[in-house]
Amino acid sequence: MSQPPGQLTFVGPRRARPARHLADLSMADRRAAVTELGEKAFRADQLSRHYFERLTTDVGAMTDLPAAAREKLATLLPDLLTPVKEQTTDRGTTRKTLWRLFDGALVESVLMRYPDRVTMCVSSQAGCGMNCPFCATGQAGLTRNMSTAEIVEQVVAGARALAAGEVPGGPGRVSNVVFMGMGEPLANYKQVIGAVRRLVEPAPDGLGISARGVTVSTVGLVPAIGKLADEGLPVTLALSLHAPDDELRDTLVPINTRWKVAEVLDAAWAYAARTKRRVSIEYALIKDINDQEWRADLLGKLIKNKLVHVNLIPLNPTPGSKWTASRPEDERAFVRRLEFHGVPVTVRDTRGREIDGACGQLAAAE
Ligand code: SAH
Repeated sequence: MSQPPGQLTFVGPRRARPARHLADLSMADRRAAVTELGEKAFRADQLSRHYFERLTTDVGAMTDLPAAAREKLATLLPDLLTPVKEQTTDRGTTRKTLWRLFDGALVESVLMRYPDRVTMCVSSQAGCGMNCPFCATGQAGLTRNMSTAEIVEQVVAGARALAAGEVPGGPGRVSNVVFMGMGEPLANYKQVIGAVRRLVEPAPDGLGISARGVTVSTVGLVPAIGKLADEGLPVTLALSLHAPDDELRDTLVPINTRWKVAEVLDAAWAYAARTKRRVSIEYALIKDINDQEWRADLLGKLIKNKLVHVNLIPLNPTPGSKWTASRPEDERAFVRRLEFHGVPVTVRDTRGREIDGACGQLAAAE
């Protein structure tokens, strides 16, 4: 399936929903669910500790639960993700997993271990409806939204692998989560917010990851950015800008035909003001398309003196795209122009290209 250029899809085809999972529910709702099953409410806390602290779903091994209750409680821990394929690079410290969901939909997540942190890059939708022509996920169209628990399970799986010492570097923990896998997180707003809450709530409610370590990346759904600012969740907002002018951005990020550069930047500044968090501007450098010095200059003028950081991403190749990464000298000139305007800028140390696991390369093919 591929999308005609410029077409935007906000709602996927109607599909059956994945089974209800503990991670879909707030603690209050978990207690209610456990009571409905005929068990004491505090069993929800016990079950939650097993899942979010010990990272286990094997009710048979939960010896603090009465044997008779285990089977009933197991219905709150259905298997949502089935691993299909695992690929590693960087001596095992970058690891991409392809998952099959209950209905056959495929998604991918990527674990990246650095000396000082571990970042999980997760998917929020199977496919994506935002149709950015340089992104492999965008080319396949939207299959469906993922549920809160399907999103959380990707992080739990990474946490489990780290705790078990399966990732070189010794036992570890997930410190950062970036919604930069497949999908447009703000087009699946409710489920993504639920997932963010599960990630940041301390155990037994959730995984207890610092909100500062969570990044939600968006093409720029302006009303949803406003809503996110009001959630009281100080997560980092990443805005995939890729062009400072509407003429080019209309073609690179088709959502720009709805909300223009000026509007999306205003939403980003409002987000920064509200949360006191630095907004990250994502800019994939595409040779001779968006990497001219005058565009760097225009970008610099638009964002100087704001609570902002620019992340330049050398374009990763995707099938069927004629575009490539900028020449090194053009990249350097782009950085210099932004620095001239006093804008903090880094070039992303992009990982996983060898396994099609880098930004924009997730296509979830078997
Ligand atoms: N839909 C969201 C999140 C997923 S993409 C968003 O677009 O922000 C994560 C980042 O990778 C985005 O900044 C996206 O624009 C960028 N990206 C997509 N394709 C890419 C490619 N081929 N090379 C480099 N970065 C890419």
